[in-house]
Amino acid sequence: MFPRFSQQYLALPDRMRAECQPTPVAAPRLLAFNHSLAEALGFDPRDFDAEEATQIFSGTRLPPGVTPVAAAYAGHQFGNFVPQLGDGRALLLGELAHRDGRLRDVQLKGSGRTPFSRGGDGRSPIGPVLREYLVSEAMHALGVPTTRALAAVATGESVHRQLPEPGAVLTRVAASHLRVGTFQFFAARGDIDAVKLLVTLSIERHYPELVGLPEDEQAMALLDAVIGRQASLVAQWKGLGFIHGVMNTDNCAISGETIDYGPCAFMDEYHPATVFSSIDERGRYAWVNQPVIAQWNLARFAETLLALIDDDQQRAIDRATAAIESFSERHEQAWADVLRGKLGLTREAEPEAGGDLALGGQWLEVLQTDKADFTLSFRELAAAIEPGEGEQTLRQRLNADAALDAWLPSWRERLSEEGRASEALQARLQSSNPLVIPRNHLVEGVIRAAVDHDDLAPFETLLAAVANPWSAPADQSLLRPPEPGERVLRTFCGT
Ligand code: AMP
Ligand code: MG
Ligand code: MG
Repeated sequence: MFPRFSQQYLALPDRMRAECQPTPVAAPRLLAFNHSLAEALGFDPRDFDAEEATQIFSGTRLPPGVTPVAAAYAGHQFGNFVPQLGDGRALLLGELAHRDGRLRDVQLKGSGRTPFSRGGDGRSPIGPVLREYLVSEAMHALGVPTTRALAAVATGESVHRQLPEPGAVLTRVAASHLRVGTFQFFAARGDIDAVKLLVTLSIERHYPELVGLPEDEQAMALLDAVIGRQASLVAQWKGLGFIHGVMNTDNCAISGETIDYGPCAFMDEYHPATVFSSIDERGRYAWVNQPVIAQWNLARFAETLLALIDDDQQRAIDRATAAIESFSERHEQAWADVLRGKLGLTREAEPEAGGDLALGGQWLEVLQTDKADFTLSFRELAAAIEPGEGEQTLRQRLNADAALDAWLPSWRERLSEEGRASEALQARLQSSNPLVIPRNHLVEGVIRAAVDHDDLAPFETLLAAVANPWSAPADQSLLRPPEPGERVLRTFCGT
């Protein structure tokens, strides 16, 4: 059943990783398997063997020829540098060739202790596994660069957090697991050779357009390219009301994919300061702060590259600083593009009118004043292109009639400049504003059903709905925002 794995990480010097075996589990049971992703990775669907998948994706058996490795990395956690983190509960099986021609890392998460486990047990409870499965697959369906979920397997063992909870292993598929923290690990040790190897590997894996650049230009070109991807990634997150929750430098992927779905959540009612993570007491990783934090993380990335950017360190600092400063403008451009798309616009506004950020900003203020649902308010714009019947749904959602009265005409005026028929504008609005997101109370609900009642049906229903986010699911209750008593305002890291 198994396609052949390659193992790039195994070929790297010893000091960059540790070979390590997964710890077999008592009674593995397959909870979910992503057949379409498996097929894209070269699995033959006619050969699917549930028993084999259960064994392998619980870490109880290894695919032929695979030597798993735990990668070394460091990271700034909430602004504090930790020189050694590393894969404490994850093991890389290797890479598979995706149908798109690029490699993907296949990693077990929750597969037991590794040399990087520190005090941890190397395990994961089932709740965070199902959350990551659902949210990463939702992000993929929403068109956001992201790691994906290939399998979830219950271990049949308990993990001990505050209370004993059933354990599980997630198989994560990523463009790679290279992180800003990977570079930091070696830069902090003055290991420039390792940083150089990481630059080469990152370019090969993620930025093939930079292959062949003269060696002394590669680090700077990589920095610039990563800044571009992160600037647009964070704009996409914001456009979905997504809050990553733990934007530490070890959770900032060089590929530009969203990685590490710990305490992440989508906001229901719009407020820019929204935070869910229980450990983010000061709102460092609030919705609105995400661009500034991404830029901060990228500055830490730049620091790891200075020795390779220019022999003259002052010149290296100047060049890196200029690149980091360019983040603001690149992000703003990306965010304006996202907002324009969500408002059904393709042409840029004349700058003297304040641009599209002003129009989008006014709309967001209306939502904020009204504590309106972010997702549905945007979605209902499609029916409000013209005055009349259609705008009633939106009016009912928003109580701030005066603010809405002021805003709608300016938006409609911009729409009319598009010179498109209403139907085309409506279709455009519907294809840039999803109907279904994995709302926090729904995610919590499916986790409770799985943990308390061993019932995976709600998980499967929600997964099917978020995998098709642009149209209405059969179960309309998956669309609505939580009632006051259903709100789930806190999320946990799940470690
Ligand atoms: P995260 O908060 O998921 O980004 O993880 C931060 C660090 O803690 C990483 O080095 C993880 O490998 C490590 N870690 C998280 N949970 C565990 C666990 N249960 N056992 C061992 N290490 C862990
Ligand atoms: Mg992490
Ligand atoms: Mg995590």
